[in-house]
Amino acid sequence: MAALELDLFLCRTDNFGVLVHDPESGATASIDAPEEQPILDVLERRGWRLTHILTTHHHGDHVAANVSLKERFGVTIIGPTREASKIPGIDRTVGHGDRFDFAGHPVDVIETPGHTAGHICFHFPDDKLLFAADTLFALGCGRLFEGTADAMWQSLSRLMALPDDTAVYFGHEYTLSNAHFAVTIDPENTALKARAAEVEETRSDGGFTAPTTIGLEKRTNPFLRAADPKIRAHLGMDKATDAAVFAEIRKRKDNF
Ligand SMILES: [Zn+2]
Repeated sequence: MAALELDLFLCRTDNFGVLVHDPESGATASIDAPEEQPILDVLERRGWRLTHILTTHHHGDHVAANVSLKERFGVTIIGPTREASKIPGIDRTVGHGDRFDFAGHPVDVIETPGHTAGHICFHFPDDKLLFAADTLFALGCGRLFEGTADAMWQSLSRLMALPDDTAVYFGHEYTLSNAHFAVTIDPENTALKARAAEVEETRSDGGFTAPTTIGLEKRTNPFLRAADPKIRAHLGMDKATDAAVFAEIRKRKDNF
């Protein structure tokens, strides 16, 4: 099994596009399809032909180019069963615990309701890759449009159970503003302070903050740290459940 090649780029304003290419078979998947032209540009530059779109959820900024790319390349679109009626051009539906094959690479489907009711993440266990879209961001998490804080906390807990060295690609370059918020919740976390400074530098140089890793998020992302005693003390929530602490952090971010 040859190593997958990835290409990460911006679409629209702050959406990440990412193409996953298997050099042996030539198969190429777009994780979501936020905008056609930037995807075409990368395919052209790399000399790749698009064969799949892996859709994480139904929001317009993630499915905008599904139909045009399908017409152009005849791609297979794989997406969440629970949102199938809202995913343009969908060919195959998948749900929690399903495993499918991408050019000989196993892909596990993890349902992560919260941002939307049927949001899924794609985990490539052999390649140590996670495509988390709008569930988990670097130093942040998705807004709760269609789910409760309890559901989102369970969803994030599923992702936290993956190996620490899993590389995580996510849906939006929101990391700088996430960092500004994170330090208000976890002010004594030295790993977070160092990371926030690094993010400032990366962004001022025009670089991307993706990918991150599960391990780095567990050490620095306040949304994954609801069990941390210092955060609980800071919020005055020593005796609350982890889900309640998460809900409070999410509420504060919404009003930040
Ligand atoms: Zn979304």
